Amino acid sequence: MSRVVPQPLLLAALLAAAGAAGAAEPVAAARQAQIDAIVRDISPQRIQGYVDKLVSFGTRHTMSDTVSDTRGIGAARRWIKSEFERCGAGRLQVAFDGHLHPVDRRISRPTEIVNVVATLPGSQAESRERMYVVSGHYDSRNSDDADAVGDAPGANDDASGTAAVIELACVMSRHKFDATLVFMTVAAEEQGLYGAADWAEKAKQKKLNIAGMFTNDIIGSSHNQDGKRDNTQVRLFAEGIPAVKDMPDNLRALIATGGENDTPTRQLARHVKDVGERYVDGFKVTIVNRRDRYLRGGDHAPFLDRGFAALRFTEPAENFNHQHQNVRKEGALQYGDLTEFVDPAYIAQVARVNAASLAALALAPAAPQEVKIRTARLDNNTDLTWQANAEPDLAGYRIVWRDTTAAQWQGSQLVGKVTAFTVPLSKDNVFFGVQAIDKDGNVSPASYPMPQR
Ligand SMILES: [Zn+2]
Repeated sequence: MSRVVPQPLLLAALLAAAGAAGAAEPVAAARQAQIDAIVRDISPQRIQGYVDKLVSFGTRHTMSDTVSDTRGIGAARRWIKSEFERCGAGRLQVAFDGHLHPVDRRISRPTEIVNVVATLPGSQAESRERMYVVSGHYDSRNSDDADAVGDAPGANDDASGTAAVIELACVMSRHKFDATLVFMTVAAEEQGLYGAADWAEKAKQKKLNIAGMFTNDIIGSSHNQDGKRDNTQVRLFAEGIPAVKDMPDNLRALIATGGENDTPTRQLARHVKDVGERYVDGFKVTIVNRRDRYLRGGDHAPFLDRGFAALRFTEPAENFNHQHQNVRKEGALQYGDLTEFVDPAYIAQVARVNAASLAALALAPAAPQEVKIRTARLDNNTDLTWQANAEPDLAGYRIVWRDTTAAQWQGSQLVGKVTAFTVPLSKDNVFFGVQAIDKDGNVSPASYPMPQR
């Protein structure tokens, strides 16, 4: 805990010095003791226990047994709910969230699809409606996506993500955050992302402020198909411009100014990489600038489709002998998604990146709104304006910038509690973002400035 700095003092000094141009690289590079404590508490042993328990239900196929207490998806979801209730007693609001799904291509009879949702309400009135969602899918499948009876251990896909979400809920519910955290384990991912899609659709109908969503799907193994080990990184899939038929005006403006890498989802990914790598020593967050892998999908997609910023965590190199495969031996080769191929220490590292990111987001103010870059006249400076944030603990704003070919922010300047600032750098040559920062030094993701004449 060598890099913990008394934040308010440092921030005050930096704000005082922020009049002059130049990079005051700050505060945000320091670590918060609370986030360090959360990251430290993530336990590979508990994660291993959760994975083992989930695998013990034999199959968690979406259409499997719901009556038995020991086998099938019903027993699995009752156990997950009881875990949330046990570890988050009095703090987590735990509920089943179900809907009856009609017959379709991968659902052969009307089926109750049930998510298990644990909500940790935010403690600040001005931030409580801002929510961050983290999910894993607890359903599983084997070689035949219609086989609701045969074994489908799903240790990696996706007991790994489910175990991470349970661990996050248990550890993080012992802390307070300004914004609301939603820990969700969903069903029917393997039948067409139906659990996540139903929740995302209801969130859209209710106009919930989902400021960010992460799915953790196949985060369980550090060994790839060739037997190589890579436990030093996780892939973070981040969609850019969505593939819509008719482009809305906001996307058109983004593209017109070269902002295709500055969508809310990409800003969120940039933030997760920054925070995750700061708090999890020696572990890399490798952003992949696409929605998902070829031929695959995940529970972030229904959130993206409804306009929410959403990301997918997945291990760096997958072993397809251990996904969507019946448990069997062919010669010396063992197939199947078995516990023995899952590495709880690796899952814990990915969970730590999630934990640090969620904590940083939920402690920080909202990303600034209505951020504009004035383009009324030709000018070698950059005039930025934005709407004032509402949080009572707001300290001010931070302007960040980077070369147009750079992936991560390179320069920054704290500018205090103002809603306009002129940076002596040409808007033609760099990308800008504006972040909100609170008195403890918690920083929001950046907002991209839209041009305004
Ligand atoms: Zn999966």
